[in-house]
Amino acid sequence: MSKLIDITVTCPQCGQKYETKVFRTLWGDGGTAEQNSLSNDNVNVVECPHCHYSFRAPLAMMYVDCKKGFAVWWEPIHDSGIDNDTIAYSNMFGADSYYAKAPRIQDWEDFKDTVKKYYTGELKANPITKFDINALKGVAAGNKSKKSGCLGFAILLIGSITSLLITGLNIIL
Ligand SMILES: [Zn+2]
Repeated sequence: MSKLIDITVTCPQCGQKYETKVFRTLWGDGGTAEQNSLSNDNVNVVECPHCHYSFRAPLAMMYVDCKKGFAVWWEPIHDSGIDNDTIAYSNMFGADSYYAKAPRIQDWEDFKDTVKKYYTGELKANPITKFDINALKGVAAGNKSKKSGCLGFAILLIGSITSLLITGLNIIL
């Protein structure tokens, strides 16, 4: 499922702080490009209750579609938590898995375009196969975890959010 997190935003316009929710992950459901969760361009746009200035919160977010088999990061500001996550994904799902290979895209329009290309087939999705999952069990033997790809991913995200606390973004969890 898509994951919302609570954040405190410092308004770039008036400097006041306010609390709001943004997506840390956005999940597609294998539909068409038109049906995907990014077709609404208001994703992660937050509005200041004091001066009504609105902008897209510059917090890294992953779009993931387990049914299709792809994941793409929007990373407007470098997020070192993703570096750690990528290593963890490699260990858990394999270095060639779409989790580990998820592109990290800074520009919002490029990000949306990339997601769309996976739906249109211009970019090739790569669902985790049974073979990959078997390989994964060997790699993750010391992990005691036998979660499916999607569940394992959700658990890893907790680590990623924790690391955000350290990155010192304008936005503080
Ligand atoms: Zn404001």
